Amino acid sequence: MRKLSILGSTGSIGTQTLEVVRANGDFQITALAAGSRVERMEAQIREFRPQLACMWTEEAARDLRARVADLPVRVVTGMEGLLEIATEPEAELVVTAVVGMVGIRPTMAAMRAGKDIALANKETLVTAGHLIMPLAKECGVRILPVDSEHSAIFQCLHGNRQNTVSRILLTASGGPFRGRTREELQNIQVEDALKHPNWSMGRKITIDSSTLVNKGLEVMEARWLFDVDLDQVEVVVQPQSVIHSMVEFEDGAILAQLGTPDMKLPIQYALYYPDRRPLAGERLDFAALGQITFEAPDRKNFPGLDLACRAGRRGGSLPTVFNAANEWAVARFLERKLCYLEITDCIQEAMEHHRVVEHPDVEEILEAERETDEYLESLIR
Ligand code: NAD
Ligand code: MG
Repeated sequence: MRKLSILGSTGSIGTQTLEVVRANGDFQITALAAGSRVERMEAQIREFRPQLACMWTEEAARDLRARVADLPVRVVTGMEGLLEIATEPEAELVVTAVVGMVGIRPTMAAMRAGKDIALANKETLVTAGHLIMPLAKECGVRILPVDSEHSAIFQCLHGNRQNTVSRILLTASGGPFRGRTREELQNIQVEDALKHPNWSMGRKITIDSSTLVNKGLEVMEARWLFDVDLDQVEVVVQPQSVIHSMVEFEDGAILAQLGTPDMKLPIQYALYYPDRRPLAGERLDFAALGQITFEAPDRKNFPGLDLACRAGRRGGSLPTVFNAANEWAVARFLERKLCYLEITDCIQEAMEHHRVVEHPDVEEILEAERETDEYLESLIR
């Protein structure tokens, strides 16, 4: 049996990873980490029997220890615990499905421990891609994309030479507010923004999808994963979300990967790469679908995309500031302390205020995050 651990097991990607594991029955789960959802973690431990589990807070860890006292599982906590989960000796593959920059250190630790990474946690690659990609080479480990667009690109590249790629066509649904003006976006409430037309995901990424910040993060993610220039990545809006992304080669051929919107496919592809496995679920019915339509992204009313491209082109610590400001602002929006349009305002403000550090190491990346948080805190005070 192959052995697997999951960072962020109680979330949207984490639970779907466990569904894939359950359906296939040939992976052993060695370690699980989550934030604070103790009940769900307890159920996962009872079903999958890992030796090690981590809860982010001491309080949640204490609660979990009491609940699973009858089982031979050790419960750890905090960043030290997360690092222990990431480097647990038996796992060959680590699924990184935590949300946010908290994933940087455990992802790098897992790579140094020789583990392949099934990467969902895009914030890590956006902020530390310049460290992660060379580290993968140095450690001889693979980074397998879980993000649906990047999995699609990865599948399209299969059997083709990387140096013959001319463009990556990253598809986007356009989110729930496609077609609206900034004026019409003024009074968007948390509930409105949490309704994605095609995908069911965690709260943070659902907000990011509505602002197009998610697509901006994905442009930067693609640039690192596939070793292309930022300007070779073009965003194409395809509202039905059936084309998961495309690659254009130098002879003009375009390959696309299509399917129903279901994250279990990219998750399973990453887990078993290069093999394909049967996967239950709906299949695309082209006659029922009728049409697939395309448009350009609305960069004017959704400035998050251009801000991301600017950050990605400039590089250094600026992508960290873009990402950290977004994480900060989305959390405040979800707490109803900030209005919807202020999310991208915060990103812009923070980017303008920041003095870029070239080739930041992990400490400097985390420092840029702290500075960004402090600056934004000082603005709302
Ligand atoms: P989610 O909020 O549903 O789940 C996040 C998980 O991380 C939870 O298990 C939570 O407990 C855990 N977590 C949060 N903070 C933690 C901490 N400090 N320590 C340990 N665990 C912590 O999020 P999600 O939608 O599953 O997204 C996870 C990542 O995958 C994000 O980076 C997101 O951008 C990416 N992603 C998600 C989807 C999707 O369909 N949900 C698609 C593509 C990419
Ligand atoms: Mg995606």
